[in-house]
Amino acid sequence: MLSKNSTAFSYSLSFYSWYNYSMEEIISLCKRRGFIFPGSDVYGGFAGTWDFGPLGVALKKKLMDEWWNYFVESRDDIYGVDAAILMNPKTWVASGHTATFADPLVECKDCKSRFRADKIADGITESVTTEEFLATHTKCPVCGKENWGPIRKFNMMFTTHVGAVLPDDDAEIAEKNIAYLRPETAQGIFTNYKNIVDTIYPTIPFGLAQQGKAFRNEISPRDFILRDRECSQMEIEYFVHPNTWEENFESLRAAQHDFLENVIGLPADRIHELEVPAEDRAHYSKRTIDFMFDYPNGEEELMGLAYRTDFDLSNIARESGKSMDYRDKVTNEVFVPHVIEPSIGVERLVLAVLSTAYTEDEVNGEKRVVLKLPENLAPFRFCVSPLLKNKPELVAKAKEVYDMLRKKYTNVTWDDSGNIGKRYRKQDEIGTPKCVVVDFDTLEDNTVTVRDRDTTEQIRISIDQL
Ligand SMILES: [Zn+2]
Repeated sequence: MLSKNSTAFSYSLSFYSWYNYSMEEIISLCKRRGFIFPGSDVYGGFAGTWDFGPLGVALKKKLMDEWWNYFVESRDDIYGVDAAILMNPKTWVASGHTATFADPLVECKDCKSRFRADKIADGITESVTTEEFLATHTKCPVCGKENWGPIRKFNMMFTTHVGAVLPDDDAEIAEKNIAYLRPETAQGIFTNYKNIVDTIYPTIPFGLAQQGKAFRNEISPRDFILRDRECSQMEIEYFVHPNTWEENFESLRAAQHDFLENVIGLPADRIHELEVPAEDRAHYSKRTIDFMFDYPNGEEELMGLAYRTDFDLSNIARESGKSMDYRDKVTNEVFVPHVIEPSIGVERLVLAVLSTAYTEDEVNGEKRVVLKLPENLAPFRFCVSPLLKNKPELVAKAKEVYDMLRKKYTNVTWDDSGNIGKRYRKQDEIGTPKCVVVDFDTLEDNTVTVRDRDTTEQIRISIDQL
């Protein structure tokens, strides 16, 4: 539900009190328990890439499935697409990425380090000029000197060559075969608008949704999975009659809050809407709200909601020579739809969920780390174990319970390692809500101990009540 008015610049330091731990502790847990590893770890890593391990991919997939279920499968007006990552290069000319998807790159003439100018100097934007940058008298973060080259525009699209291009081919052949790894999933939706309108005749307003990888050659990737070179996006392009954009914008805005707060359990008071002022918006956007989230290391963008007008469809019409008109089924009015776009980065969402769930408390005088993940996102719903692993009758009974629960819930894990206390600690750290333990009483009366992750309370219930 829409829980607050736009709270532009509601930023305050008070959120730090919500976290009694640092981002480093989350990163450490992620590696220790198999959620997220540095990309190509065995070769010493590869900057700006991260790999999801068994538990991380389980969490990420559940988040993506919840989103798909909420926005696509539970609604009559939003349809899914899954477009190719490699697209005709005209796509990026029409969208403006070839010309403007660039960051201001500056090089230190002394140590040759390269930086994004707007990230190392205060009070300047992405469109900073060399003169403006030099006037800030910024020192090189690496060598401390102030000896800068000019600002150069660095396009963040990854290029590749499609087809048989050899190293000794001339530049012209190579140039003709250049393709890009898509920098956003949105264009794969816009380029399918006409196919969808011509084949399934959706009634406006309607949306097209897509989940998939996008690639940005960040000059300096940082902040764990917040700013990586390869990420997953979940985007919806919602096509509306131009006169109705405001009401559709509001209903999509409310839906984002409902999803974030009520479906995946992010605390409403850590989500802040930032109304992007006109001078900072992309030139085609008439309104943009950034949804900011209080992460342990500060406020960062979680997702965006933008009114993109008819910018994309009109560009595609011009570049392709094909009409992007929509004919209203009732009024017969012909128009190019306008678009409202909710866009979310999956890794940012994963980190928001982990930051919210990560908790340190004390149990029996010992520090405990526990991931209080909502049940619908936890990699495992139950962990089943025999009290003792060297008693065949306990193991057999526990296997029976395990098989039964797996049939019912699928995401159930088995653990008979170490002692029971160690197993609880491990399941707490990976966020398993309930541990089910089979002991000698189970053999007598068919009851088991169910231990709750958050309260550590244990109750005795009959197996058929599980
Ligand atoms: Zn330097």
